[in-house]
Amino acid sequence: MRTRRLVIAGAALAAAVIASPARAQGELVVYCTVQEEWCRPMMAAFERATGIRVAMTRRSSGETLTQIRAERANPRGDVWWGGTGDPHLQAAEEGLTEEYRSPNLALLHPWAVRQAEQSGFRTVGIYAGALGYSFNARELERRRIAAPRCWADLLRPEFRGEVQMADPNTSGTAYTMLATIVQLKGEEPAFEYLRALHRNINQYTRSGAAPARAVATGETLVGITFLHDAVTQKVAGAPVQIVAPCEGTGYEIGSMSIIKGARNLDNAKRFYDWALTAEAQAIGATAKAYQIPSNREAPIPPEAPRFEDVKLIDYDFARWGSAAERTRLLQRWDREVRAAAR
Ligand code: PLP
Repeated sequence: MRTRRLVIAGAALAAAVIASPARAQGELVVYCTVQEEWCRPMMAAFERATGIRVAMTRRSSGETLTQIRAERANPRGDVWWGGTGDPHLQAAEEGLTEEYRSPNLALLHPWAVRQAEQSGFRTVGIYAGALGYSFNARELERRRIAAPRCWADLLRPEFRGEVQMADPNTSGTAYTMLATIVQLKGEEPAFEYLRALHRNINQYTRSGAAPARAVATGETLVGITFLHDAVTQKVAGAPVQIVAPCEGTGYEIGSMSIIKGARNLDNAKRFYDWALTAEAQAIGATAKAYQIPSNREAPIPPEAPRFEDVKLIDYDFARWGSAAERTRLLQRWDREVRAAAR
């Protein structure tokens, strides 16, 4: 009798293991919003450190917010790692993300903790980076075009069809640009500028870093991106020059959130705590991602653009990351800029 019960228990256990082998080891679903080249080693390092299996999908920031909202009734992701802070703040406000106070918050720079406080601890800063643009220096020289230095220079007629940026609906980078121009100039002059810039745009890409790659290959003369995305191309040997615009510019606090209703909540918290460590944040530079890490002990890559060298605006994350303002600005951009003739 005793033996039989043991056999039955053993069979039941074996059936459970066969039915869901991943659950037996632990699993985690991560929506990753940085470049694929950084997502992959980050997930692999977490798997090595914990034995938890990670299923990762890479999308842009705005796309990820849209996906999490669409899955609200039946969440499939556990952690949203990376991407600009504004859509993470909007997700927090919409109740799409979980409150969590990691013990590792104490390891972070004040700007990263502020991001957490601002959202009722539903998101947290993991890196920072300033916005700007890059240009293909070889092509500019060949065409004898003077190097641009300011946002205003991008309206020059010689850049007609030669400027690339992402679509702010899908890309957090491009939304940062939209909100930056509004904060720099005031909303009406900002939309005048964006409509004028539209005439010089050759393509609105889905992903924010794509224009930096197009500059590197000479497909476009100018690409509006985060400065660190252009550094990645320069380090790889591309003939690019990087510009922090003379009028001043905005910046991002790249963020991380736990998705409300996460099926693997304990593992999500483990990932969250781990992603705030210096060791995990050092992986960025090895993947040629040159942001400023939020952990005070994480090494700042020597190639990372320093905030001290950039004229930064006092970006109002609470306002421009709010659901009402972000939605309103994007709708206005669709109506008045995207839909305009070129
Ligand atoms: N990749 C890197 C390296 C970034 O720093 C960021 C911004 O957080 C993103 C991707 C976000 O990309 P997207 O503008 O496509 O949302």
